[in-house]
Amino acid sequence: MRLLTVSPSTPDPALVAEAAHVLRAGGLVAFPTETVYGLGAHALDAAAVQRIFAAKGRPSFNPLIAHVPDAAGARALTTAWPDAAARLARAFWPGPLTLVLPKRAHVPDVLTAGLPAVAVRVPAHPVALALLRAAALPVAAPSANRFTELSPTTAQHVQKALGDRVDLILDGGAASVGIESTVVDLTGARPTLLRPGTLSVAALAEVLGDVPLPAPSPGREDAPRPAPGMVERHYAPRATVWLFDASARDAMAARLAREAVDARAGALLLSPWDARPAPALPLPMPDDPAAYAQRLYAALHQLDDAGCAVVLVERPPDTPAWQGVRDRIERASR
Ligand code: AMP
Ligand code: MG
Repeated sequence: MRLLTVSPSTPDPALVAEAAHVLRAGGLVAFPTETVYGLGAHALDAAAVQRIFAAKGRPSFNPLIAHVPDAAGARALTTAWPDAAARLARAFWPGPLTLVLPKRAHVPDVLTAGLPAVAVRVPAHPVALALLRAAALPVAAPSANRFTELSPTTAQHVQKALGDRVDLILDGGAASVGIESTVVDLTGARPTLLRPGTLSVAALAEVLGDVPLPAPSPGREDAPRPAPGMVERHYAPRATVWLFDASARDAMAARLAREAVDARAGALLLSPWDARPAPALPLPMPDDPAAYAQRLYAALHQLDDAGCAVVLVERPPDTPAWQGVRDRIERASR
């Protein structure tokens, strides 16, 4: 594996060209997007896409998002471009929004896990956009981590998780959004939210003039599974996650004592821990949802690296702005 460090805002075209060459040759390139680091491959080359599944240990029924440099690139992969797609693309691309639309025949089945629809996104990160333009290809890119593990928000996280499973890593600094894109399905009669992210339902509804359905509640085995990854344990650290409400802090402290894990416990806190015992590694988290999302995975990586057996996570408020963060921490706790 090679690691190339590039400027996050104005990446050196020669280095970007090297990475583009690896993609065109069917190799794997990890690169920064504004959400998390992606593990990229030529989206129209079935063998290259297959390599992503192998490197991640990701089950083949989990479809990938195709990254494109602009809306024209998305339309080249899809057979329909409804008014909702045009509006959302105009409002939020480049940005952390993925649209699911009927796929064209040349889009390989391995990319969509056999589904008739393909997920497309225009990322906002200058390095990602430069790479997409230089490669002149749609690039399949899930998060650059092993299946079910923590998503990477830095090149170092990618290195730690994938090592030589990836041919090249472009290091363009830390991801600014920090959690995965909001996914909206546009194949049905009405737009449907498949995965919450930092773009709120309210922001989508404002553009659509229509409210997308809430995401299916994770963990309900009888729930439909429109978005793979919505029901299983996902986005999880190695440590066991104990989610708690601030009002239950004393009960959490008692549990730390009972299970004698306080010395090996970390915590993501929104309010000060005033109970005894205390977790050994308490990390104060921002009370703003965007800042919290940006910090979330790096904080969990930090606590994993410190060898924490348990991570206590104080539940953020149940408001629309926190939906994306709450979804990730709920699923990390399964
Ligand atoms: P990631 O794991 O971040 O690469 O995101 C992939 C996610 O995008 C999946 O877990 C689904 O939620 C969604 N997705 C990708 N492709 C499709 C598709 N063809 N149909 C429905 N959802 C999709
Ligand atoms: Mg992922």
